[in-house]
Order: sequence, then structure tokens, then C-alpha cells
Amino acid sequence: MCAKPKKFKAIRGMNDILPPATRLWQHVEEAARRVFAGYGYEEIRTPIAEPTELFRRGVGETTSIVEKEMYSFEDRGGDSLTLRPEGTASVVRAYIESGAAASDPIVGYYYMGPMFRRERPQKGRQRQFHQVGVELLGVVNPLADAEVIAMFAHFLDEVGARGIQLEINSLGCPICRPKYDEALLGYLHKHKGTLCGDCNRRIERNPMRALDCKNEGCKRLIDGAPLLRDYWCDECIAHYAAVSRELDLMKIAYVENPRIVRGLDYYMRTAFEFTTDRLGAQNAVAAGGRYDGLVRDLGGPEVAGVGCALGVERLILLLAQYKEEIEHPPVFFAMLGDRARETVLPVIQELRRSGVRVEWDYAGRSLKSQMKRADKKSAHTVVIVGDDEVNKGEAQVRDMKLGEQEKVKIVDLSRHFIKVGG
Ligand SMILES: [Zn+2]
Ligand SMILES: [Zn+2]
Repeated sequence: MCAKPKKFKAIRGMNDILPPATRLWQHVEEAARRVFAGYGYEEIRTPIAEPTELFRRGVGETTSIVEKEMYSFEDRGGDSLTLRPEGTASVVRAYIESGAAASDPIVGYYYMGPMFRRERPQKGRQRQFHQVGVELLGVVNPLADAEVIAMFAHFLDEVGARGIQLEINSLGCPICRPKYDEALLGYLHKHKGTLCGDCNRRIERNPMRALDCKNEGCKRLIDGAPLLRDYWCDECIAHYAAVSRELDLMKIAYVENPRIVRGLDYYMRTAFEFTTDRLGAQNAVAAGGRYDGLVRDLGGPEVAGVGCALGVERLILLLAQYKEEIEHPPVFFAMLGDRARETVLPVIQELRRSGVRVEWDYAGRSLKSQMKRADKKSAHTVVIVGDDEVNKGEAQVRDMKLGEQEKVKIVDLSRHFIKVGG
């Protein structure tokens, strides 16, 4: 009768983010807000679910996302809804719906939050994953591409990511792309036997899909495929040159990678990736580009757009390699007895109000167990105060890394830590 209640588990590929890992997440989110605000971008928050049709049109019918990765379901009213698989389509929908596209089209938005794709879960790739992204709408000028790239490079610096390389390319435009598609299709037809089933099915509708196919056979074949840059029209060449020039002026280092393509249909001209060799094979940390046709395709006016999105899980994997330096370690107060606690409590409160992270042992146990807790909290500094110290008016301040100990007057403690920045 009284069966033990069932224990629940999170859905596969949808994970809890628990402390202390949440510290790194907050660090990333805070850096994003700070940096993007400095360029005049404003935060936008769109719903988790949208009409399925928005992503079919906004991401592209032939993309892997729409073909096999979306979480789509019918709600009780019979409408087909989809959990957002990426951010841009929703942001553009909101931009049009709010009237901004028609009244004051130049807007910079940033967003952060969960996205959903039903992929095979692996390290750094979850079914509920998170993105930080930006969209700059309404600017045809190549300065827009350069600004978005520079801002993202700044954000990656600010967040402390290392070993990042910027790669740029151009995907052509509706004038020059059809000529390239024709050449590519000719090449793919010649090697039809080597292509995977997916590619064989979709190359007639969109031959460029084969360029970012994950199948090994397709990848090898693509190495010999014609390059888009050999088909760029004069305007595309000029746009690419202008973006490169602005990046040079802003002292942003980049390499040219003619093999960059985007998995989403709406990109044109500038395409770029921030990559790293420190995460094994999954080397793109952030990716973006220009998408001038998207606003029109989603029912808005003819307005240009440039955007970039970053996978937070992958960035966190990268940052976790040196999280000690990124996280502000706490100052730990080991207090022995009531007199010690009463003496230093006002100091602790003053430190916390000044932004110094302070932790203590709630149980008031032995020095040994307090030191253990300090270690668990990865404190770099421990302040030890017992009866002896209260009598002398001096605390013992131990540097946990160096193992060295010094005496600091209790009245000087707050000045000591606020000066050295915790
Ligand atoms: Zn072109
Ligand atoms: Zn393929």
C-alpha cells in the first residue's frame, strides 16, 4: 500500500547547474551584460516556445535543426509549438512584432538563456543548452559586422577565455551564390556515390548543406569542393575588404578561413567563428554572421542584420581549465570561541559590505575542522582568531597557497583585505 515514493531524475541531456559551477556561469553572464551594455546593446528576453512555423522559415527547412533536432509538440489547442533551438528567429520576430523594425530600425539586442535541440548528448553539448547572443539590426554598413565581431572578442577577453582564434569568411549574396551553388552541385553530382543519404536528399534543394555535414565521407569529399570565395561578386568582395579593414583598425586579429559555412539558411556575406584548440574536436566556441534577408522573410521590412551566439557550456568547459584565477576565492574566518566571534563579527560585516567574499564555519568546531572547511571552500586566505589573539588584538592571517602566516592587528583587518582586494 505504502510504496516508497518514486525518485525522479532530470531528463537526459537537460542538466542541473549546481554550485559551485554556477559561479562560473554568473561570471560569464555578468561579463556579457557589462561588455554589451558598453556598446549600447540592450537585453531582450523572448519566450522559450514559439510557433513551429517561425523556426521552419527562420532557420530553414533543409537544416539539420529543423529536420531532426527540434522539440516540437501540439498544445491542447492543437497549435504546433517548438522549444526554441536558437535565439535569432525569436529576436527578429519580437523586433518586427514590437514595431521597432518599422519605427526605429537600428537596434542592438543581447540575450542569454536556454535553447533546446534533440542531439546525442556529449561533453559540452546538451539537449537543453545555453547561449549568449547579440543581434545588431538595421545596419547595412560593414561597420556593423566589425562591431559585432569586436564586441564579442572583447567579451571573450573580459570573461578570461584564452587560446581563442577568430576566423572569418564571406558566404556571398543572392547575386553570386546561385553561380556557386551550381558549381558545387556539379561537383557533388560527380561524387554522388560517396555522399551520405542526408546529403543526397538535400543537395538539390540546398547544396551548401553538404559543406557542414558531419559524416566523415562527406567531410573528405568537401575538401576538394569549389570555394565560394572564387565566386564572390564585386559587392561581396568590397564588403569583405571593408570588414577586414575595420577589424585591422580596431586591432582585432583574425585568420581567413574560406571553409566556414553556417548551419542556418539565412546567413549571407560575413560569417565568422571564434575557435579554440583547447576543447578537442569541438572547436567552435561562438559563431555568427550577417543575415540581411531574415527580417523580410519573417514578414518584416527590408532590414539588415548581423549576429553572433556563443555556447555557454563550451565556454564554461574552457574556463574551468583555469577557474582558480577567475573565481574570487573567499577569505575564511576561523573563529574559536564566543569572544573571538564577538570581536571579529563587525569586521566581517564591514568586509562583506565592501564586496570582499567572506565565509566562516557555522558550527564553531575545532580549528582543524574549520581549516578543512576553508580548504573545501578553496579559500586562499584564512584569518584565525581565538582567545589569545583577542587578548593581543592581533589575528593570524594564513596564506593557504604559500603556507605562510603573518600577524595583522584586528582593528586593521578590514583595511588589510579591502586594500589587497580580498
Ligand atoms: Zn555577392
Ligand atoms: Zn553528408
